[in-house]
Amino acid sequence: MDIPRIFNITESAHRIHNPFTPEKLATLGAALRLEKGTRVLDLGSGSGEMLCTWARDYGIIGTGIDMSQLFTEQAKLRAKELGVADKVNFIHGDAAGYVSDEKVGVAACVGASWIAGGVAGTVELLARSLRTGGIILIGEPYWRQFPPTEEVARECHASSISDFLLLPELIASFGSLGCDIVEMVLADQDGWDRYEAAQWLTMRRWLEANPGDELAEEVRAKLSSEPARYAAYTREYLGWGVFALMTR
Ligand code: SAH
Repeated sequence: MDIPRIFNITESAHRIHNPFTPEKLATLGAALRLEKGTRVLDLGSGSGEMLCTWARDYGIIGTGIDMSQLFTEQAKLRAKELGVADKVNFIHGDAAGYVSDEKVGVAACVGASWIAGGVAGTVELLARSLRTGGIILIGEPYWRQFPPTEEVARECHASSISDFLLLPELIASFGSLGCDIVEMVLADQDGWDRYEAAQWLTMRRWLEANPGDELAEEVRAKLSSEPARYAAYTREYLGWGVFALMTR
């Protein structure tokens, strides 16, 4: 079981697989006023940077589930590196339908809401692991400005304009899911650059090391086209943020 190999190539050097910087992750942890010993569940935990740094900085106890074997291995190494291997546990697996045995204070899905079929399904899934008064975290894109055409939406790697909402609409939508939005931290374009532009050097180096690989042609094409596509579309049209919710 694994995610498509292309992501394990292009994001192999990422610690954070979304447009957040380390500073934004720390800001989010502080914004949540995490108490020492709080249990945090993270579905689609990637390379584990959120749980590992929050364990180090705020004393949380974390469980992460991710379908990428590579990212999960990197998460375990990172936990050792930060001296928090006794506080965080990373499981390689499918997070679809995952509910924790023990209730948690924070249940998160940061940039992987397809795991439960979208925002509504993910909020519902996370709520099943949450203790009373706990916080749901959801990381999600939104349109900074509406794409003028469906073609532009596709250039942003959306399947359609209707995939995402404008920020005020996204915020309002949490109310219709029965939640209060109680905090948010938004990425900015510098953060998008860290997420997207960091893939270019990774791709270039991977190509040099793996010229005969079956994905070499695809990676070559991506490296040639992605920088200009990103600058023209994703960077201009897509926002991203992490939203903290409490059920009403
Ligand atoms: N939350 C992490 C990773 C976000 S990227 C971070 O912010 O850094 C999306 C992640 O979802 C990837 O790590 C990918 O491997 C993982 N993923 C995709 N489908 C999944 C599934 N069905 N179950 C668990 N993880 C999944």
